[in-house]
Amino acid sequence: MKFNHVGIVGAGQLGRMMALAAYPLGLRCLFLDRSGDSPGAQVAPILLGALDDPARLAELAASSDVVTFDWENVAGSALAPLEKLTKIRPPRKALEISQDRLQEKALFSRLKIPVAAHAAIDTREDLLRAARKLGTPGILKTRRLGYDGKGQYVIERSNQLDDAWAQIGGPGLIYEQFQDFSREVSLIGARSAAGKIVHYPLSANTHAGGVLQYSIAPFIDASLERMARRYLNKVMETLDYVGVLTIEFFVVEGRLVANEMAPRVHNSGHWTIEGCVTSQFENHLRAIGDLPLGATRPLGHTAMVNFLGWMPDRERLLTIEGLAYHDYGKEPRPGRKLGHCTIVRATPADRTRALKALLKLMKEIPRPV
Ligand code: AMP
Repeated sequence: MKFNHVGIVGAGQLGRMMALAAYPLGLRCLFLDRSGDSPGAQVAPILLGALDDPARLAELAASSDVVTFDWENVAGSALAPLEKLTKIRPPRKALEISQDRLQEKALFSRLKIPVAAHAAIDTREDLLRAARKLGTPGILKTRRLGYDGKGQYVIERSNQLDDAWAQIGGPGLIYEQFQDFSREVSLIGARSAAGKIVHYPLSANTHAGGVLQYSIAPFIDASLERMARRYLNKVMETLDYVGVLTIEFFVVEGRLVANEMAPRVHNSGHWTIEGCVTSQFENHLRAIGDLPLGATRPLGHTAMVNFLGWMPDRERLLTIEGLAYHDYGKEPRPGRKLGHCTIVRATPADRTRALKALLKLMKEIPRPV
């Protein structure tokens, strides 16, 4: 196929890193986003408009060989007309399913991928019934548009049900049994239109307050990795998926329980920029553009740490050998993902040491007030 122009819906940091990976391949990127100062807009041209504005989307599609996404929550009804104009990759169906936690879990269950016991909640009575049936602790979540722990309430005991309902109650929720996990891991893979699939090594992810703090990779566990690959393949094949797909899992008693999928490049894969032969961003572009997929072999043992709410002083951090510093060019706001850094080491022990030193240094650096 002709592959020179990529349209990217949403110009956040994922789009920005995609554009940065696109340049060496000789690709031109065009974003659609509301903000002319978004992370993507700082590195490639942008169409200004709402992400689901039909006229703007049509304009984007008309000037792109393929349209892809930094943000997966564009309504399917806004995307459908574009399919006549250009290629939409990943496919609309994958986006639609990932937009709704209930549909996502239904797909996983249909494919025999384990998920947390859950119930759809639209009323307070639904919640009381679900909590009785599934027990506590549990998590009440919005089915749509929740991310990074937003729109979630952890219900430890049944006397919190009223408070949970008062905080986020309303139609369109899901109640999930709380998973007593030993770890959270994610698997990222890329699939070409011809059906070839490559997988990255597993990442082990540490969250706080629902937000990813840091990832280490490769997380070496052959049996979990085999299982995760099987699950990812099933989802990709069922959806006739093209591009990068991520599934996040809980590890519960040595088994995987799928939490959610993201039909795009993922925060837990940022380490692949420095830590793998081909980054997740480049492989996403290769997949959607019918180019040969790149090798996903790790180049060492990697840690990636998110910068949340503040950017630690660049000069201080760059004193750490080999540290890669990524600033997304965003305005600081409490808890906001503003950047990340990555270190690659020769052994897991070296990586652990370097990660500890990095986290210690980040504690020592004064935060702007
Ligand atoms: P999510 O928005 O579903 O990715 O949730 C954000 C984070 O909240 C996850 O990465 C977990 O750390 C935690 N979490 C979400 N759902 C559950 C669950 N059912 N059991 C335990 N922890 C959860």
